[in-house]
Amino acid sequence: MAKYLHTEGVCLRRIEYSNTSQVASFLTPDAGRLSFMAKGVTRAPKKGVRTGFDLLGRYELTYTARRSGSLHNLTHRWMRESFHDLRAALQRMLCAYYAAELVLNFTMEEDPCPSLYESLLRAVRAFASGKALGLNVLLLELAALREHGSCPTFDACAECKRKLPARGAVLFSPQAGGPLCKACENELRSQPHARLSRTTAVSAQVLKALAALNADVEARPGGEGRPTMPSRTAEGFPTMSAVLRFHMRDLLGKELSMWKYFERRTVSRSLARLRRQAGLV
Ligand SMILES: [Zn+2]
Repeated sequence: MAKYLHTEGVCLRRIEYSNTSQVASFLTPDAGRLSFMAKGVTRAPKKGVRTGFDLLGRYELTYTARRSGSLHNLTHRWMRESFHDLRAALQRMLCAYYAAELVLNFTMEEDPCPSLYESLLRAVRAFASGKALGLNVLLLELAALREHGSCPTFDACAECKRKLPARGAVLFSPQAGGPLCKACENELRSQPHARLSRTTAVSAQVLKALAALNADVEARPGGEGRPTMPSRTAEGFPTMSAVLRFHMRDLLGKELSMWKYFERRTVSRSLARLRRQAGLV
């Protein structure tokens, strides 16, 4: 007799399959990313009505493990959170789509990641509320990189681990996985790199610590009982965002498709400058 398994998950991708089915990928806390064949999931309860999974919806899932191939067989699902308010603004939806793409690219099938699952839920709830979108995107990016084991260091040289100088810009090397001290900079200057101001490096340290805490964070003071950003930290956001994407591009060997849709112009300009510096355009 088939053994039924139970978990919960956030829907990262769904693809129509035949007339009434979907192939869907979820991030789950206890089993990592799972992909399912959901037969009959779009079968209409009434004529003219189609149903299926909501992208980024949180569901409880019952399934039987795959026997062969790559898909588990989903037998029941119950929606727990629909995040309906994501649909209230285009910017919220774009952040949510990006969250799905980011997590799909930085997770492996069946590799448990409870901390990233918490970070994803926290980010999607923040996107649905429309608050501090850019900041919550950054925190999710740091959480995804931490789960992947490739989160840059920002407080010490990525190559020799010596402390970075307190002043002046430093060179960020995706290959080394972070900023470089002067001595290592001279050796690795020929590789693609970006300039990182001290403000950005300090901002990144603060955010990295907050992402590790998995805390609710607000960009401005006033959130009840929530950590807030030191005012100068926010100054480094556009460059930090650009530096993280520069790093992710190197890790993945490609650009994520959502970057071009929702970046603020300041981020786009920073990223364009980094690409030029690195000779990538
Ligand atoms: Zn060094």
